[in-house]
Amino acid sequence: MLNLSRRDFVASAGLAAALSLNGRLMVSPAFAQKTPDPAKGFMTYKVGSAEVTALYDGIWEKPHDPAFIANASIDDVKAAMVKAGLPADFVSIPFTAVVVKNGGKTILCDSGTGGQVQPTAGKMIANMKAAGLDPAGIDTVLISHFHPDHIFGLMEKDTNKPVFTNAEIVVSDVEYKFWTDPAVIDRLPEARKGLARRIQAVFPTWKNIKQVQGEPEVAPGIRFVSAPGHTPGHRAFHLASGLSQLMISNDTAYQPALVLANPGWHGQYDQDAPTAEATRRKLLDRVIADKMMICGYHFPFPGAGTIQKDGTGYALTPAKA
Ligand SMILES: [Zn+2]
Repeated sequence: MLNLSRRDFVASAGLAAALSLNGRLMVSPAFAQKTPDPAKGFMTYKVGSAEVTALYDGIWEKPHDPAFIANASIDDVKAAMVKAGLPADFVSIPFTAVVVKNGGKTILCDSGTGGQVQPTAGKMIANMKAAGLDPAGIDTVLISHFHPDHIFGLMEKDTNKPVFTNAEIVVSDVEYKFWTDPAVIDRLPEARKGLARRIQAVFPTWKNIKQVQGEPEVAPGIRFVSAPGHTPGHRAFHLASGLSQLMISNDTAYQPALVLANPGWHGQYDQDAPTAEATRRKLLDRVIADKMMICGYHFPFPGAGTIQKDGTGYALTPAKA
């Protein structure tokens, strides 16, 4: 369902689908959201003594596209969605960031879309506040990679002003160097050139970005895990507290209905698909071997659960919202 604020958003975004009719705003049905938002847009759970809060940002109901999965047909994709209990007529891509409170620090893992990626997303800050968390109280933002749905929440629309004014932003040096290399713009596909230009206009001017090498501890109880392929410097985040562990897998298995069940599927958004597949299998096998919980940025809200081997792939048992 659309509400007034959603219409206002579409209007302010200047999308062609919004048109004025008798002074009222109309929105193309293409932007009507079919998936209901969760009744409560945040959920808190414990990992050892760490407190994890999943924050719902919204969903992209992606139209089917034969190029989306290189080695699967649209019918295969539809069947995988149905098998996971999801609608067949689009690919459900929800966005869920997590906040970890541990060791006296409040750590945000990826930043949400900032309402700048899809008209049906941009609810993370409202859900953060509903969960009793203040954006000014975020000490650290860990960034998995520089795709828009993971970093645009760091910056205000149009002005690029920082949203998390008191936070240190921790990123992989590989990812930072890839996107800020002036030569990368010529090498990127057309659809990614604007992203690189925005990154290059903003990130070098910010003093609170810390680049880290390898897999260090980046916040209390949290280590970067090298997980390349989706992008060159993509990182998962491993949280450990006592005997409990959570693998914050980010986009390693971005749409679980598709690439957990079929880890060999090569998605369009995996920049280096064979490397992404190898990373995916290695990370998921580690999660199973070490009996960890897992969450993912595009997993069904609240985005956390456990995984098991299932035939030639993996299956997710989601935690209940
Ligand atoms: Zn993503």
